[in-house]
Order: sequence, then structure tokens, then C-alpha cells
Amino acid sequence: MRPFKKTCLYLFLFLVCLLVFHCATTGPGGKTSVILISTEQEVSIGKQMSEQVDKDYMILGDTVVQNYISRVGQKLVQVSDRKDLEYHFTVIDSKEINAFAMPGGYIYIYTGLLKLMESEAELSGVLGHEVGHIVARHGVRRLQQVIGISILLDIALGKSSEAVKQGVSVGIGLMLQGFSRENELEADYDAIFYMSRASYNPQGMVDLLKKLDNLDKSGKNVIEKLAADHPPTVKRIEAAQQNLDSLGYANSTLPLMQEDYKKIKDRLK
Ligand SMILES: [Zn+2]
Repeated sequence: MRPFKKTCLYLFLFLVCLLVFHCATTGPGGKTSVILISTEQEVSIGKQMSEQVDKDYMILGDTVVQNYISRVGQKLVQVSDRKDLEYHFTVIDSKEINAFAMPGGYIYIYTGLLKLMESEAELSGVLGHEVGHIVARHGVRRLQQVIGISILLDIALGKSSEAVKQGVSVGIGLMLQGFSRENELEADYDAIFYMSRASYNPQGMVDLLKKLDNLDKSGKNVIEKLAADHPPTVKRIEAAQQNLDSLGYANSTLPLMQEDYKKIKDRLK
């Protein structure tokens, strides 16, 4: 290729990159990252995946509980670093102790986990963690890595090929597994930050992690625990405590809201 043609090609590729890539805010304090998928595409991918989750799982019929979880979730969204999405919080009726986030603002929490917790602050810890994954775009980044950009774009376009169906199902599996050690600790940090901003006592995060740690010891499979490199819960407790100290939340007088939470928990059989 002649040098001039080569230069033109590089210039063209550079312009394409400028159009396709964009820097997005991915955390508190104006943290940014380069993301390949636009927000519109991300929402479309999340929507396809959530429609599949709604078919595959039993969604809790109690609208009082569903609305309560949504209200707590929306309080965290309001103080988060990503408000350009419509967030959906849904309770899955299952004994499993789990919660997960999918791209585009789709968050699910299981009744098994709701029954384990004892305060609205603990709940805000789980929901804040999942909102943190969405703010940081951990979901789309993981999907880009494993499924690849071309199938992801087909999912976003709502195509109905076998590859798209497989991509959606693999994608859901990946989101259920949780993310890397680094991503999980980042989501915990974001949760603590958002909890305080939404007027929940961040101590609720440490309370929650201690409960999960006790379950760990009894050998039960808990929240996003399938990924091999998931941080051990003791490490998460240590990090959360350090974050409480460094952010000046260690002696927070913000409420844990145990009474409000109990009323909702009593509705779960
Ligand atoms: Zn997580």
C-alpha cells in the first residue's frame, strides 16, 4: 500500500474509532472509562436479557414488596453517577440467596436474600452494589469480552438468530456469576458511597457482608459466588470497614431502618 493511502486508511480508522468509542462516567468522583457499546444499545441488550429472565424465573406477585424494593432502589439511583437510564428493580421468588444486575438498569433480588437481611440499610447495600455494577458498566464490559461485539450488536438490534438466543442465555449466566475481584470491590465501594448519600447508615453494608460470611462458613452458595476469582467475603468485610473509615462514615448516625424493613419482610412466607 502506498504511504498516502495508508495514511488515509489510518485517518479513516481513527475517525471511525472516535465515532464508536466514547468515554463514559463509570463511578463516583467523575471516574471515566472507554466503552464500546452506546447507552442505547446497552439498554436494548439489557431489555432482551430481562425479558428472558422474566420468562425463566418466578417473579414475586406481591406488589407491596415489589414497590418497596423499587422505592429503595430509586433512592440510590437518584444519588448515583448514572441517571441516564431507567432502572428496574424486580424481586424473584426463590430461596436462593442472590441478587444480580444486568446491563441497562435491570436489577433482580431474590426473596431468599430479603429474608436473610434485617434492615433497609442492608437492603440498600445490596441494591447500591448492583447499581454500582451498572454505573461502572461491568456487565457490558464482561459481555464484550466473552460474547464479542458482533453478537452483542445483533442482540441490541433484536435479531432472532440462534447465535443471538445463545448469546442472551450465556449473558444471563455471566451476570448471575458476578464479576472479577476488582469489580466486586469497586461495586461495594460505590454502594457505601451511595448509601450515605441516600441517607442510609453505611454500617448496613458491613452487617450484610457479615451475614453472608456466616453463610459462607456453613457451605451455602451465596450472592454472586460462582465466579472463581470472586473476592472472599472476609476480604470484602475488611475493605468495607476501611472504606467506612476513610470516607468518615465509621460512626454514622444515619438510620438502619429496621422497623420499616421488618414490615416488608413479614409479608414473605
Ligand atoms: Zn457484584
